[in-house]
Parts: sequence; structure tokens; C-alpha cells
Amino acid sequence: MTTAKPLFNRLALIGTGLIGGSIARAVRTQGAARSIVATSRSAETRKRVAELGFADQVVESNTAAVEGADLVIVSIPVGACGAVAEEIGPHLKPGAIVSDVGSVKGSVLRDMAPHVPAGVHFIPAHPVAGTEHSGPDSGFAELFVNRWCILTPPENADQAAVEKLKSFWIALGANVETMSAEHHDMVLGITSHLPHLIAYTIVGTADELGAVTRSEVLKFSAGGFRDFTRIAASDPTMWRDVFLYNKDAVLEMLGRFNEDLSQLTRAIRSGNGDALFDHFTRTRAIRRGIVEIGQDSAAPDFGRAHPTLPTEPLPRPYAADNE
Ligand code: NAP
Repeated sequence: MTTAKPLFNRLALIGTGLIGGSIARAVRTQGAARSIVATSRSAETRKRVAELGFADQVVESNTAAVEGADLVIVSIPVGACGAVAEEIGPHLKPGAIVSDVGSVKGSVLRDMAPHVPAGVHFIPAHPVAGTEHSGPDSGFAELFVNRWCILTPPENADQAAVEKLKSFWIALGANVETMSAEHHDMVLGITSHLPHLIAYTIVGTADELGAVTRSEVLKFSAGGFRDFTRIAASDPTMWRDVFLYNKDAVLEMLGRFNEDLSQLTRAIRSGNGDALFDHFTRTRAIRRGIVEIGQDSAAPDFGRAHPTLPTEPLPRPYAADNE
């Protein structure tokens, strides 16, 4: 499906990794903008973007990218957003919309807003969609389909601009919700940032075990560990910034998590099976809820394909061929 009419004439993408590259591909597929101009910090990434061909034009600087653009999307680590806003501010077209995709919204609002001139609409956004891969090759057009994109417009935001950006994300297949940046950071603190911190911790702990045990950790990872490793393989720069820039909300969630972990520790130590059973029953219902609202597949084991059974005859000592 393509949108009936492009929503924007010229889309400028600053940052062309997983998210920027996916936006470009989806915009192309859906015809959501007449042309896409892209740029990235390094010459290497710009060269790769030109080879992949998902933008109409690849330019060398952020200022050249935003020239004449009516939608600018900054898709870079949150810690770098303020400096980029300062650089592009004087070059933005009056009436343009400036947005981002950062996983933290309070800091983006604080760092970018002061550099956006009057007459340009600044509407931060966060598509809650991603994979553990990064870089321009990792993007794909369907990334945002049926995922949520959260808009955190400042209080005085122009409603028409908010609606236009909303239409843009809907055209890319997303569902859109609006909330304050502060609320966003609390919600994502528990649903995304804390789970990543836990995954980084568990995988790090396993890595610090002795070498022999470590090889067994890898071998027997299907017991649960490997699902943490997927999350813990996420981009180190992006996640360093998430924890530095959403510090307060993450520390709040971490405090609550530690209290709950202490309760479970106590239940295990005192042999309180009922407490453990009740807790696990409650958490199982949350998984069901996620499947019911279409945010994950109902297939067991995340729908992983299972290899077929071996076709060779059973080894001799176990074969019941004399019976
Ligand atoms: P990515 O694949 O690693 O791409 C990062 C992009 O940012 C590249 O174009 C890179 O340029 C550029 N960049 C890196 N450091 C920079 C700096 N200091 N100054 C200017 N540009 C810089 O990352 P991504 O996954 O697309 O993430 C981009 C943003 O999306 C982040 O804010 C992240 O929080 C948010 N986000 C990520 C996910 C996810 O699952 N990955 C989901 C939702 C939102 P070069 O390659 O040229 O160095």
C-alpha cells in the first residue's frame, strides 16, 4: 500500500543506521515523501547509503541535508542530538517539522528544543521498534509495522504539525500515541531500559565465569540465556547514551527491581513455594497479554524453527531391535 499523496516534499535524514535506514526504505515503499536526502557522520556510512540506494541524494553535511527540507528526522544516539540541533538550527526551513527517534525523550527535548528557531515545529518521537543490529544494511521497510511510535510534543506544539507527523508514522505502519517526555521516560525505563540493563548484567556475569564454565554457558544457552544475549548484543553507543540520559527513571526502576528481587530471594531462601508460584503465575499472564494485543507471536519459543529429527538409525546400545 502506498499513501495516496506524499505527506512531505523533501525528507532529510540525519543518521542512516537501523532506524534512519528503515525510515528511508519505508518512506520509499509507501511514497510518504517526494524525495529523501540523507547524511551520516562518517564518509564510510555515506558511501554505503549511496550504494544501497535508499535515498535520492546523499550529502556530506547536516546543514546541506536540511536545506529546503519540510521534514527533518535525526536518527543518531541521544547524546549527540543537542550538537546536531545547534548545527542545523539556522538552516531549517520556516514551517518545517524537526523530529528524532531517540529512545530517551526528556534529554532530547532539553538539548534540541533551544536550537530550533521560531516558526519551525519541533516534535520528538520514538518508534518503539528495533533489532539488535545496527548500521545502514540492517534497516528494513517493515520495521515499524504494528509497532508503537510515541510522540512527545512540547506543550505549545502546533497541533497541525503533530497531526502531520502522526500521519507520517501511520503511513509507515505504526500505531501512534502521544504523551509527555517525562512519562515516556518512565514507561520506557521499565519496558526497555531496565530489561536491557538486566540482559547486559546476566551476560556479563556469565562471561566472567571460568573459561570451562563459559563454554558450557554457550553450549547450554537454549535454557534461557540465549534470549538475554540477543538483547545484550544491542549497540553499545546507543545504550551507553540511554543510561546516561535517562538516569533518573532508570535508577527509580532499578530501585523497585532490587526490592522485588530481594523478595524473591527471600522466598527461595525460606522455601516459600506459594510466593514463587503466585509471582510466576502473575508474570505468565503478562506474556499472554502481550500476545493478545498482537505485540508478539503466540508461537512457542518466539517461533524459532526447530530442526528435524535425525534420520540415521539409533546407535546400537539403545536400539530395541531384538524385541
Ligand atoms: P545505528 O544503526 O548505530 O546508527 C547510528 C547512526 O547515528 C549512524 O548514521 C551514525 O553515523 C550516527 N552517529 C553515531 N554517533 C554519532 C554522533 N556522535 N554524532 C552524529 N551521528 C552519529 O543506530 P540506530 O539503532 O539507528 O539508533 C539511532 C537512534 O534511534 C538512537 O537514538 C536510538 O536510541 C534510537 N532507537 C533505536 C532503536 C533500536 O532498537 N536500535 C529503536 C528505537 C529507537 P556513522 O555510521 O556515520 O558513524
